[in-house]
Amino acid sequence: MPILILSDIHANLTALEAVLADAGSQEAVWCLGDLVGYGPDPNECVECIQELPDLVCLLGNHDAAVLGRLEIETFNQEARQAVLWTRQTLTPQNLEFLGQRIERSENDQVTLVHGSPREPVWEYLLDTRTATLNFAYFETPFCFVGHSHLPLIYQLADGHRQADLFIPHAYQKLQMTPRAILNPGSVGQPRDHDPRAAYALFDPDTLTWELRRVEYDIPRVQWRMLQIGLPARHMQRLSSGW
Ligand code: ZN
Repeated sequence: MPILILSDIHANLTALEAVLADAGSQEAVWCLGDLVGYGPDPNECVECIQELPDLVCLLGNHDAAVLGRLEIETFNQEARQAVLWTRQTLTPQNLEFLGQRIERSENDQVTLVHGSPREPVWEYLLDTRTATLNFAYFETPFCFVGHSHLPLIYQLADGHRQADLFIPHAYQKLQMTPRAILNPGSVGQPRDHDPRAAYALFDPDTLTWELRRVEYDIPRVQWRMLQIGLPARHMQRLSSGW
């Protein structure tokens, strides 16, 4: 049975629920971090994630910021505002859950990180040069990352010195060949100009990867953000998928 791969939920419960309904019943869920930040439902998202079966859930940079583990001066003014609101809003139990998240997880086939295998919480893999360098920092055939909110695949073919970039189409089952770095995109704040929530299904038996996109009620989320007084730009970018 495929494993549900989620990343960058960013406190968007409406998007998370749409993804879970679309994916159907699952035996295992791997979440690549950033449960909170930007969105209006941090407690609900942390509580929903904890209920999922056989869960691996990593620490993202927004999670770390909310925990006070990094200088929020590195965030822009609006992101900082969201971090501070999230910190005040999370219950002690949910803060504790975030505090227990690890930065990296590994099995026979896959290394899981939020950002990159070289800098698990921080580094963005946005170009083939940086991605190529990162293949030296994991041993497994595959590595799953989030953080950039862009569904993409970096493939390092046998004998090649430079990785190639592929943008997968939704609902296309791709045969995975070693070695590759794969990003399922963002559940709660997509940034590839497609506003639909993104996630992936990984089948460890057949080695297939399927990107999926799901529509959800964006105005409902924006309305909640407006009520709370979260930054307008974070509301607007949900509509444009950027
Ligand atoms: Zn993120």
